[in-house]
Amino acid sequence: MTNTHEWTKDELIRCLKDAGIRNGTILNVRASLKSIGRIKGGADTFLKAILDVIGPEGTLIVNSFINCYPIPLSETDAKNISTEVSPSYAGALANAILKHPDCVRSKHPIQKFAAVGKLAHELMDNHTPDSDGYAVFERLGHMGALKLCIGREAIEMAGVGNTHAAIKVLGFFKKKPNRGVNYLAEDGTVKLFKVNWNGGCSRGFPKFHPLYEKAGALKHVRIGEAEAVLSDMKRTLEIDCEKLKADPSFFFCDDPTCKDCRLNWEHSTGNYLTVKFHSLISIIKSKIVTHAYTIN
Ligand SMILES: [Zn+2]
Repeated sequence: MTNTHEWTKDELIRCLKDAGIRNGTILNVRASLKSIGRIKGGADTFLKAILDVIGPEGTLIVNSFINCYPIPLSETDAKNISTEVSPSYAGALANAILKHPDCVRSKHPIQKFAAVGKLAHELMDNHTPDSDGYAVFERLGHMGALKLCIGREAIEMAGVGNTHAAIKVLGFFKKKPNRGVNYLAEDGTVKLFKVNWNGGCSRGFPKFHPLYEKAGALKHVRIGEAEAVLSDMKRTLEIDCEKLKADPSFFFCDDPTCKDCRLNWEHSTGNYLTVKFHSLISIIKSKIVTHAYTIN
């Protein structure tokens, strides 16, 4: 049977309140909206539901990151100039918040966050080209914000804690990708911006989930038809930092072909030939599987 239920704003408000979101909450949301089910009015309705629940004393912060490109920029990539209104690849909620009349966007050329609410200017105005790409997450941790990840994809894609901020706090360092974007600077000129933060391979981040659960730093909730996780960004940052101080490699994924985890960090312990060897094996395996399918 096809599910024809359309979730209304009032029903979504009920879900958000049941999850534990309150008037005045500082809330970071990462959502796969399609996992919620059909929403009457789409992403705008969900955005309004969140803003109704947190009220004027609350603040909503959404990742509204934009693409970057290999340097030197090609002629086509050079024309994609990052501005305050550049559309985001981060999905329907990100692009809905960008249309909100009270939306404030961070001035970072790539890791752009977007916010509506009481602390929107305080959080966004300080996030500039000179800031670490994930500085906002660190501040949200200190402010006691909550993070709501909606849908399996959002839960598993980048973890539900504050590991990017922990990597920044602990000063882990990696070889930066040679990527960037042209952006419109405050003085009105177009400048080239190069990736300036140490982004982790997010496939390793879900390893922290059992630690958060044990500490009571997250809870499993439902938003519409989606499974979702609500976590306390202060507690998860503390847990991430504590674990990574004891075991700096804990956030690395287990894929022997992952160059990012095996080679790129100052504390990576893999070597180039081993990663190449495993990559070759995985290419051969995938070719054998393709061949087996072809002859069947
Ligand atoms: Zn990895």
